[in-house]
Amino acid sequence: MRTHEGKKALVIGAGVAGLATAIRLAAQGFQTSVYEIAEEVGGKIKEEHISGYRFDLGPSLFTMPELILELDALARASTHVKSPLPAPFQYQTLDRSTHYFWEDGTQITAWANREAFKQAAMEAVDVHPRALDRHLVHSQTIFESTRALFLEQSLHEWGRFRWSALRKALPHLHQLPWIGSLHRLNRRTLREPHLVQLFDRYATYNGSDPHRAPAMLHAIPHLEHGLGTYFPEGGMAAIVKHLHALGISLGVVFHFGQAVQRIVHQNGQVQGITLEKDGQSHRIPADVVVSNADIHPTYRKLLPELKAPENILKQERSTSGVIFYWGVRKEHAALHLHNIFFSQDYRREFQTIEAMGHPGADPTVYINISSKVQPSDAPDGCENWFVMVNVSADPDAIDAQIPTIRQAVLDKITRTLGHSIEQLIETESVQTPRDIEQRTSSWRGALYGASSNKALAAFLRHRNRSRQIKGLYFCGGSVHPGGGIPLCLLSARIASELIRTTAS
Ligand SMILES: Cc1cc2nc3c(=O)[nH]c(=O)nc-3n(C[C@H](O)[C@H](O)[C@H](O)COP(=O)(O)OP(=O)(O)OC[C@H]3O[C@@H](n4cnc5c(N)ncnc54)[C@H](O)[C@@H]3O)c2cc1C
Repeated sequence: MRTHEGKKALVIGAGVAGLATAIRLAAQGFQTSVYEIAEEVGGKIKEEHISGYRFDLGPSLFTMPELILELDALARASTHVKSPLPAPFQYQTLDRSTHYFWEDGTQITAWANREAFKQAAMEAVDVHPRALDRHLVHSQTIFESTRALFLEQSLHEWGRFRWSALRKALPHLHQLPWIGSLHRLNRRTLREPHLVQLFDRYATYNGSDPHRAPAMLHAIPHLEHGLGTYFPEGGMAAIVKHLHALGISLGVVFHFGQAVQRIVHQNGQVQGITLEKDGQSHRIPADVVVSNADIHPTYRKLLPELKAPENILKQERSTSGVIFYWGVRKEHAALHLHNIFFSQDYRREFQTIEAMGHPGADPTVYINISSKVQPSDAPDGCENWFVMVNVSADPDAIDAQIPTIRQAVLDKITRTLGHSIEQLIETESVQTPRDIEQRTSSWRGALYGASSNKALAAFLRHRNRSRQIKGLYFCGGSVHPGGGIPLCLLSARIASELIRTTAS
């Protein structure tokens, strides 16, 4: 087995994928350092405390906790532990994923228990239980047969391609929805408009439009309806705090407030990075460099002399978001942790986002209230509302629209709940695409890198190992297999496996 004892690895960025990669490399024996512009870990996963309220600023939905437990187990089994490990990662399993609301009064609770969900759907709308059952089973089939093939290995390293993953998928190839959009698939199978919208919504999991995104995204509902949803003890920020602590135990050295200027290479071999300190450029040598920064600034800023893969960089970005963080002076019994107030015309909403950047007068509004499961996140009798609408990853188009978007969101809440909550808001802050871009270097503030609005989008994400520079690797939401916490964690696993087998 190849050993990396004493070799030096540098990770650029302490997002969730950068942290997971650092843990994996330290466990392989690399002397590992992480350089991060911000003063803390997490990238998009951050929390803020405002007047007695705690808000997760970025992700709110936690799925596939086993990927965190895998890192926990890896660290505990490692022979490279340098200081005491943190207590195991804690989280709770939720009995439901989302509460869905429509303006016509329809409500559906997506219970984790499949029978309970089917019952709730049948009581709310006119759907045949067998149609819904078939739809959920189809999602499971797509997920399980394509997971190892498309998500858990590189799609660009034919020499390392795991043919067993293809063999596993082969018996199901005829069941996979190769053509058509996600919306078309949902409409054909379910017909009932509320349920079609409910299942269309899974395209937004990676910032895509269900009317353009491929039907293969029907793998996503299985994450919620089959594998379940969870809540980390301490909130979403606890995920990156835990990974940070695991890294420290394995001897990873973290440097905060350090913007990497360049990735240095010579004769096709990576040499290290440069940082600016006191107006001077400092070189830090390394055998392996992993960029967790968005792939766009990685090429444009850190590797400006290199020929960039323009076909990949020009891919349409995923959506961004405008998020209001409201301390609300009242409890709302009808709402739970994840709530969606749907627009009346989803197709028009996405067309409006494409044309104007924002969803217009009737947005779909996502409300996350973590104090429902973690009461200490809000003062007694109050709730911490994270209220988000999808917008395009275009800071210039959105900056001036924030007051209009805020009013549209408040009106939507009034129409759906039957009363206004504006007077109940006692603290407020907002995050825009420009804030997301400035805080995380995510190009144009996209939440999930490139969108999946094209049939072959999955094959147009950047590879995890550089073809041009030996020793240079990539992880995070803008590279294969894509954005969202689970896929970012898988990108870290793929990149570190490639490093284990290819780094000299
Ligand atoms: C509002 C919002 C809601 C979301 N909702 C969900 C959700 O519910 N569930 C889910 O799974 N996902 C969700 N996501 C997506 C998820 O947060 C991301 O896919 C994931 O966190 C991205 O992680 P990453 O490892 O790619 O790095 P990022 O979080 O993008 O971090 C990259 C890091 O690299 C650093 N960096 C960049 N350039 C340099 C440089 N030159 N030098 C040093 N450091 C540098 C940045 O400062 C940053 O810290 C959401 C995202 C947002 C913003």
